[in-house]
Amino acid sequence: MMSTEGRGLVLEENLLFEQSQPGRIGYSITSLDVPAACPDSSLIREEIAGFPELSEVDVVRHYTRLSTWNYGVDSGFYPLGSCTMKYNPKVNEAVARFPGFADIHPQTPEALNQGALELMYNLQRDLCEISGFPAMTLQPAAGAQGEFAGMLMIRAWHEANGQKRHKVIIPDTAHGTNPASAALCGYDVVTVASDGILSKEAIAAVMDDDVAALMVTNPNTLGLFEADIREICDLVHERGGLVYSDGANLNAMMGISRPGDLGIDAMHFNLHKTFSTPHGGGGPGSGPVGVADKLKPFLPAPYVVKGADGYKQEYNCPQSIGRLKSFYGHFGILVRAYSYILSMGGEGLKRATELAVLNANYIRARLEGEYDLPNKQRSLHEVVFSEDALQNECHTLDVAKRLIDYGYHPPTIYFPLVVHGALMIEPTETESKQTLDEFCDALLAIAEEAKTSPALLKQAPVRAKVKRLDEATAARKPKLRWELE
Ligand SMILES: *Cc1c(COP(=O)(O)O)cnc(C)c1O
Repeated sequence: MMSTEGRGLVLEENLLFEQSQPGRIGYSITSLDVPAACPDSSLIREEIAGFPELSEVDVVRHYTRLSTWNYGVDSGFYPLGSCTMKYNPKVNEAVARFPGFADIHPQTPEALNQGALELMYNLQRDLCEISGFPAMTLQPAAGAQGEFAGMLMIRAWHEANGQKRHKVIIPDTAHGTNPASAALCGYDVVTVASDGILSKEAIAAVMDDDVAALMVTNPNTLGLFEADIREICDLVHERGGLVYSDGANLNAMMGISRPGDLGIDAMHFNLHKTFSTPHGGGGPGSGPVGVADKLKPFLPAPYVVKGADGYKQEYNCPQSIGRLKSFYGHFGILVRAYSYILSMGGEGLKRATELAVLNANYIRARLEGEYDLPNKQRSLHEVVFSEDALQNECHTLDVAKRLIDYGYHPPTIYFPLVVHGALMIEPTETESKQTLDEFCDALLAIAEEAKTSPALLKQAPVRAKVKRLDEATAARKPKLRWELE
């Protein structure tokens, strides 16, 4: 790839394969002081076609350079709605690196890993306390797998009651993983339209004896609290259905309201959202699921219990839906989440929610005059604008691209689908008023540019490493790996 920005950059943009120099090596192995033992020659490959030959410093520089081109929570404001991109406190990382946690082998006998089991037991207990559920599994690897686990438990409950139901109700504001999880469990999805929030009438109209469950996100992806959730749960229960809650938005409720108290039967947490564990970059997440008493027999096995002689893993679960993940789930993430809970304390978690809601409402108040706000109900931790007030044929995509020029990661765009050109902003509690003000100033400046010089938006980003991409080609003909020419 060529660059006009100077010789240094020409080299920088080369892939490792392109930097390769015949005979260059990046390792040194001490000479043998024992006789060489060679495997069968049929097992030895002469050469790997195209394998790059590089020195250690070539490789270190390459990856270090790439890492500086990335944008993350540690480099700037990242208001990606629904994702709760809060700062990950470094104390969690320090704790996760304690040798007793980092070096433990998953097959260590129970008697020797009491500390790890105690941590998981305490985390189960704390998440139960926060959510109002009596039982918890820590196994699922992410929110989406938590949904799948929850829906499998709901299906198992119906089957244990001798019922085969076929439908799951999901509102039109739901995250795509909700219908996917329901469908993976064999259910037909019934979509209900919501007017910002769900109405009892809309649920009553589709609720019948063939409905296994309602899946509902609260607060929903518009950042609005489902005000009728209690009555809606009653309605579903009266017809023998259960209610699953997508807990991705718990950062708007933590310490204030408990889903288990509202009549929900099962809910997943996203520890990588609400509980500040790292997020994205291909790293592991964690999606524990809390359940009501009636679903407890179906929890994935094992989970951690406290016995007379210490902590142990409970395998005696004859009705369990089985195992979802090897060993304990993503243990390192559980350590980080527990560290976060302990360092925040109950009052701190509640304060986090309050500040997350305050920050979102501050942004709403500053932008409402210039950006169209389709839903006027009170927002919680995120706010969703439409593109309708933008001038000169500018669209949400143009605003998002222009924000990159101002140095910000764009918000979530075009989701939820019910908002025309949605711009979904979630600041989280970890941002200062200065950061929020600078971000709002940027968005207000962009709205002004749309009026006076829309080309600035249409061409954006102009200051980024990668300019505007041809997204259709990128989606239809993705080039996902380097190929030998
Ligand atoms: C993030 C999210 C999910 C999926 O969670 P993952 O941990 O990414 O699998 C589901 N629903 C909503 C509303 C979300 O924001």
